[in-house]
Amino acid sequence: MKLSRKAMGITPSPTLAIDARAKQMKKEGIDIIGFGAGEPDFDTPLHIREAAEAAIREGFTRYTAVSGIPELKEAICAKLWRDNGLHYTPDQVVVSNGAKHSLANIFTAILDPGDEVLIPVPYWVSYPEQVKLADGVPVFVDPEQGALTVDLLHKQVTPRTRAIVINSPGNPSGQVYSRAELAAVAECAVKNDLWIVADEVYEKLLYGTAEHVSIASLSDEIKARTVIVNGVSKAYAMTGWRIGYTASEPKLAVAMDSIQSHLTSNPNSIAQKAALAALQGPQECVEEMRRVFDERRIYMCERISQMPLLSYREPQGAFYLFADATQACGRSFRGSVIKDADDLAALLLEHYRVAAVPGRGFGAPNCLRLSYATYMENIREGMDRLAAFLHELQ
Ligand code: PMP
Ligand code: GLU
Repeated sequence: MKLSRKAMGITPSPTLAIDARAKQMKKEGIDIIGFGAGEPDFDTPLHIREAAEAAIREGFTRYTAVSGIPELKEAICAKLWRDNGLHYTPDQVVVSNGAKHSLANIFTAILDPGDEVLIPVPYWVSYPEQVKLADGVPVFVDPEQGALTVDLLHKQVTPRTRAIVINSPGNPSGQVYSRAELAAVAECAVKNDLWIVADEVYEKLLYGTAEHVSIASLSDEIKARTVIVNGVSKAYAMTGWRIGYTASEPKLAVAMDSIQSHLTSNPNSIAQKAALAALQGPQECVEEMRRVFDERRIYMCERISQMPLLSYREPQGAFYLFADATQACGRSFRGSVIKDADDLAALLLEHYRVAAVPGRGFGAPNCLRLSYATYMENIREGMDRLAAFLHELQ
């Protein structure tokens, strides 16, 4: 039987695939070190889990409003004011089944067939695939020496360009955009009448002197064309609960609400109560987890900087180190030639039992993404294995 062109054109998520493979190998008793995971390794804080238990006990088990319960939307507005200095009202907020779902709603709501979306490289794997699922065309912008400029963006704009995606702090690079870069994006968006899709899911995971600036806070004009995407997965270790949200101008919110009403209805009622507890409860847990990530980040950076054949830009946010392995490509390992990071990741997994995500899905085929969302002992052992592997390359 025939499948659609759309289905045939989609690449499955390589991040989830590597993670599933590593989890499966672990289950089979294989001593694997997983640097693939794109999720915090911590348990969801207790007070959040207790709120969910209470919701179950109280029978909060029915459909809710499609775009979320009013008190959660109020709490999201309060968060946007508290953390970002942005004023939104609940009618501008849509709560969905994870930020991934929020992004899918956005692209469905803003793209007509053939419309283009600018995506800076390296990008999170799902942006181009989601744009394609919404019949759009991803257009990649490769920053020069890591920096986005107005000129670079303008070069890629056509009459079909509708939006630009900004992910800061970024997956996979851990890059945090400077105010100057955000201003460049804003200028390009205003000049060309573009939506700005601002994915801020790693907002709370910042290191060193990095600060998070929401692009929507640059001016009211920018805010009106920005849709903020955020969620509870990364900040509160709640990846499995599936709660994400958008904040945008009301017309877009209504459109996304309608789309969601036919695809999934409301996000899980219990998870909404848990997200409410996360946003309204004590915030110390967020900082505690960030501190632990930072220790791991510093350790991993130090180890990688001592290894041959890898280079990297120090991550300022999120929980990934994106290593450039160009120098390892073209070398050989026990007789097989390494063409790219796909080969590198496959050999590393097979012979040294270390899982890392190859960069192809992020638009950087010579890079490897290493997640430090795993405990220190694991990182230490994984770094030892990676170093031994690299030393074996000829
Ligand atoms: N955006 C980015 C950049 C991500 O890394 C992730 C992680 N999966 C998401 C969005 C989606 O997160 P979630 O669906 O778990 O809220
Ligand atoms: N965002 C995470 C990652 O990049 C989770 C996996 C996914 O949703 O793709 O690994």
